[in-house]
Amino acid sequence: MCGIVGVMGSPQASQEVHSALLMLQHRGQDSAGILSVDAQTGKFHLHKALGQVNQVFNKKTLDSLIGQSAIGHTRYSTIGEIKEQDLQPMAASFPVGIGMVHNGNVSNYAEKREELHKNQRYFMSDNDLELILHKIADQFSTSQTGQDLIEMLAAAVTRVMTEIEGGYSVIGLLGAKGLFAFRDCHGIRPLILGEYVGADGKKSYCLTSETCVLQFLNYKYVRDIRPGEFVWIGQNGQLISKDLLPKKSLPCMFEWVYFSGADSTFEGKNVYEARLRLGELLAKRIPADIKIDVVAPVPDTSRPAAIALAEKLGKPFREVLIKNRYVQRSFITNGQDKRMMAVKLKFSVIDELVAGKNVLLVDDSIVRGTTSRKIIELLKSHGANKIYLASTCPPITHPCYYGIDFPSREELVANDRTVPQVAEHLHADGVYYAQTDDLTEALSGLTHCRACLTGEYPYPAVQHRSVGVQRC
Ligand code: SF4
Repeated sequence: MCGIVGVMGSPQASQEVHSALLMLQHRGQDSAGILSVDAQTGKFHLHKALGQVNQVFNKKTLDSLIGQSAIGHTRYSTIGEIKEQDLQPMAASFPVGIGMVHNGNVSNYAEKREELHKNQRYFMSDNDLELILHKIADQFSTSQTGQDLIEMLAAAVTRVMTEIEGGYSVIGLLGAKGLFAFRDCHGIRPLILGEYVGADGKKSYCLTSETCVLQFLNYKYVRDIRPGEFVWIGQNGQLISKDLLPKKSLPCMFEWVYFSGADSTFEGKNVYEARLRLGELLAKRIPADIKIDVVAPVPDTSRPAAIALAEKLGKPFREVLIKNRYVQRSFITNGQDKRMMAVKLKFSVIDELVAGKNVLLVDDSIVRGTTSRKIIELLKSHGANKIYLASTCPPITHPCYYGIDFPSREELVANDRTVPQVAEHLHADGVYYAQTDDLTEALSGLTHCRACLTGEYPYPAVQHRSVGVQRC
């Protein structure tokens, strides 16, 4: 998963994009980048590097990113080593000057890359954004001279949506002419539009992954970009929208369950409220005959759910695990060794709250089970009597091909285990999951992707995914 942003029409475009990336840091911590374009000189300015946003940029690099429009990216690498050439934004200068960022994953990447390669296209990276860039460049190469630029771009995006399967949101710059964006046909990955009207009545626009960015930058939320929609914002402030290839709306349920900031809202459903409701509904799944002394969250995502669950059960809510804020979230580090190390470093325990107690631990999800098992072992080593684990996400039994790091089926702890077997594997005294109906109710009936829970994928060609592709 990644965080993306684009700003058009602001005198401080790069500074705003930089602030936005700080707000989106939870979506990826491996690298960051900003591409700006200067209409006066017709020049792109690019800075990107490995590391967190505040490590990648300083005043000097930010000052060099001149222009009234800019796009930015913060990266969460899911597979293999991170290579410099895979970092975003990516840009090309032929047949048109174009730069792009994306969030998501192309599920038929290998097949489409092979097709392009047969046409003598060569790749600089293993990033699936480059595939989209090639497709758009190809379409421009075959367009008629004199054709309207926006029509040409819309035709190129239609081709992308027709041929490229997966969950992706893209933001791009077409030279200094305009900012554009599109969302895959099912709208799996989020994309939000905001606007700011200055004292002089001049508008600037922001496209981004989460509404928390708009609030921070003082932009007004306009709406979620629709599935299969293409949006163009011209240099003159003209906004054009085209529904190119809309299909059933299936936003990723995991944005509400785990990934997004609690202060964000998608498709009219606030993340914090959804997590509270999930906690209330999860309370129904806890057997009445188990003795619970305290309900505790695994910090931080599951806190609202744990509060609501404790209220429903009438049990004390306690923070038994204290998070070391200077260690990053274990789920988004790449590679198993780093993950194990991160778990050890991440939490300390308040002995007085756990010694001799039965603790009902609430987590947002159980993916591999590595983190859960370590936490349970940690709490037991501090004298806890019994540890029960409740998950607001139903059992994850299938991989995600649309941009979330749910690994192969074999690595998923719930894949081939019954719930009691999961409990045994995690050394828990009981494991309780929310049901898929609870998820639907917590999202107020909103249709959503839940392929990792059911195996019913919105795009059929999942088997074409290439191992080693850099999802984002
Ligand atoms: S498969 Fe799961 S994680 Fe992936 S997009 Fe669908 S709901 Fe989200």
